[in-house]
Amino acid sequence: MTLNGSINEIQNNITDLNSTDKKSKLSDSLPKVGIPRALLYYKFYPLFKTFFEELGIKVVVSPPTNKEIKKIAITTAPDEDCYSTKLYYGHVMYLKDKVDYLFIPRFQSEHKTNIGCPKFMGLAEALRSMYPDLPKMIMPTFSQAKLGHGKWELVRIAISIGKLFDKSPISSLRALRTAFRVYFHWKQDKWLTIREFSDWKQNKIFVNDAPKQDSSTTNLKIALVGHSYMINDPYASLNIKKQLINAGVNVITSEQFPRELIEKQMETLDFNMYFDYERELLGTAMHFLEEKSIDGIIHIIIFSCGPDSIAGEMVSRFSTRNPTVPVLQLTFDELTGEAGLRTRLEAFIDMVKRKKKVEETG
Ligand code: SF4
Repeated sequence: MTLNGSINEIQNNITDLNSTDKKSKLSDSLPKVGIPRALLYYKFYPLFKTFFEELGIKVVVSPPTNKEIKKIAITTAPDEDCYSTKLYYGHVMYLKDKVDYLFIPRFQSEHKTNIGCPKFMGLAEALRSMYPDLPKMIMPTFSQAKLGHGKWELVRIAISIGKLFDKSPISSLRALRTAFRVYFHWKQDKWLTIREFSDWKQNKIFVNDAPKQDSSTTNLKIALVGHSYMINDPYASLNIKKQLINAGVNVITSEQFPRELIEKQMETLDFNMYFDYERELLGTAMHFLEEKSIDGIIHIIIFSCGPDSIAGEMVSRFSTRNPTVPVLQLTFDELTGEAGLRTRLEAFIDMVKRKKKVEETG
């Protein structure tokens, strides 16, 4: 197959040409691509944004989740979807009349064997079949584990997206290269090195905002373990990270935890945990349970998430085997309320503080 042939094939694949053209509604002459601020946004946003902007395309991101978006989400998403996927629907609906295209990649994996979440693969099609009046969708497929995709597939995807906007292959490749440079930088910044982690453990640095000091604070360290799209969404997570910091807790998240230590921990399992994002959660929790270098672990489970139900059970079993570190598992869904959460956090923090005091005074 010629390069042009392949590109046309991908172009057909990635663009939903049957949906309604809404260009006439837009006053701005630049084409607008909408990126919903949910799920993959929290994993790849710098990559997506830089790529489109380098191509001269305007990127419109939906606002942080709010009451209105959540309300739309729960009325538009299928009941059986996990809470995070439901929120994705709310963000898509927010964007639908404001953009020319929606960027909803069918992303499965960036690893030879491990996969992300099957939900990501079907999201674009599910949305299109339920809501045929959505703007055109740019929905490239990428799966290293199942389809053997690699950098050439990325090149083909970039060129085919560029072609949609009359951009030359060279411009698309330049945009792709810049986007990856920005993305890798962002990712490296987020992940702690072993050295930084060690400095954090020795109270030499904070890896999040400094905890609010009060007279009862005993320099508590708590690991907040959960999906990046929940922990980094203040509305959906009821600002749990901020609540902990305000309560005087020195927080580290699973997203920041050093990758080497996660992989080391996964090697101790007698099977391959092939859900990539659960590896992060499980690896972080297992490390702290074994190393006992933390005062407590808070594990956020998203309601109706299949992979989370496995990781939740495993964290719970590992915690039974290593009971020194207290673990609080919280399930989040659209009905989780701030008052209830605050009460549970306060009770957990009080318990952890008392335990630490007893240990320190012998
Ligand atoms: S991993 Fe779980 S929470 Fe994330 S999208 Fe999949 S089902 Fe939802």
